[in-house]
Amino acid sequence: MSEKSRYTPKDIEQNYYKFWEAQGFFEIDGNSKIQKEGKSFSIMMPPPNVTGRLHIGHGLTFTLQDIIVRYKRMDGFKTLWQPGVDHAGIATQNVVEKQLLQEGKTKEEIGREEFLKLCFQQKENSQDAITSQLRYLGVSPAWSRERFTMDDGLANAVKKAFKKMYDDGYIVQGNYMINWCTHDGALSDIEVEYEDHAGKLYHLKYPLSDGSGEVIVATTRPETYFGDTAVMVHPDDARYKDIVGKKVKLPLTGREIEIITDEHVDMEFGTGVVKVTPAHDPNDYEVGKRHDLEFITIFDEDGFLNEYCGEFKGQERLEARDKVVAKLQEEGFVEKIEEHQHQVGHCYRCNNVVEPYISKQWFVKKEFASDAIKRVNAG
Ligand SMILES: [Zn+2]
Ligand SMILES: [Zn+2]
Repeated sequence: MSEKSRYTPKDIEQNYYKFWEAQGFFEIDGNSKIQKEGKSFSIMMPPPNVTGRLHIGHGLTFTLQDIIVRYKRMDGFKTLWQPGVDHAGIATQNVVEKQLLQEGKTKEEIGREEFLKLCFQQKENSQDAITSQLRYLGVSPAWSRERFTMDDGLANAVKKAFKKMYDDGYIVQGNYMINWCTHDGALSDIEVEYEDHAGKLYHLKYPLSDGSGEVIVATTRPETYFGDTAVMVHPDDARYKDIVGKKVKLPLTGREIEIITDEHVDMEFGTGVVKVTPAHDPNDYEVGKRHDLEFITIFDEDGFLNEYCGEFKGQERLEARDKVVAKLQEEGFVEKIEEHQHQVGHCYRCNNVVEPYISKQWFVKKEFASDAIKRVNAG
């Protein structure tokens, strides 16, 4: 077999691809000779992030889309497959920050202008790599219409849509409990990754204010006790009938909180007494709303403990944990500490431990999607 007669895809594929593209076959009128009156079809390529290169998952998604649009073109539809790339916001910022750190520099050192320049350089590099990969993949989007999600047209469309939704009452601003990364800020639920952690369960003693005894509560995050605004027991729990309505004094700070009852308490778990930290736990957030409790936030947006934490004010919340526990032990407020396997949420961007945190953010009302939800549920 001679060298020439062997099939070498590399030599052949790109020549055909260039021919297809040059002939305009991927554009909306590429099949104009067979287009049928009034038939049109369009889909958008989910724009890949300019954080790097395409992976095998993109290969699958784009091949499936390619099969669909090629079929529609052959079936006489005026067809648009809209290509583009996405700025990806903080994810791209993180890529550039990591590159800088490898050179021993920070974004603060080089300044805003220089940092933005590097971000756009990253965008150019990544976009070049992605579009080249797509062409090697052989897929057929309408390249003449390629967009970047920060182009003026798209940015204006976002502003317009936001204003319309705001005017229609679908966008509201308010203080709600969200996922918070002390490095990256607000995270959506899908941006939190859960891992099994070999942690600890700390059993703390809260003395009754009237000196008649104490209750034991258990927590995996002992530093959050500074934000407790109640302890609760089940209304049917005979063990605690006599202390409901009494007060306990929080260790070290001495702030007084009430013992309340709530049907949601699991009598079988631990001692059956539960600490309530409405500003730092999603379940307790609901409890706090049900019982009209105070919401006490104990650290700032960067994770540094505030004045509710007494002598620990100014310390980073995770670094402070062992010191808080040591002090509690010293003062006799720790009953025991057990090994405890549990799930901990991590930031998908920086792997920081995610905190439930009350923050003022913009939200879209779920009613905005009620029609779509109805259709999905109706199958
Ligand atoms: Zn972890
Ligand atoms: Zn983070």
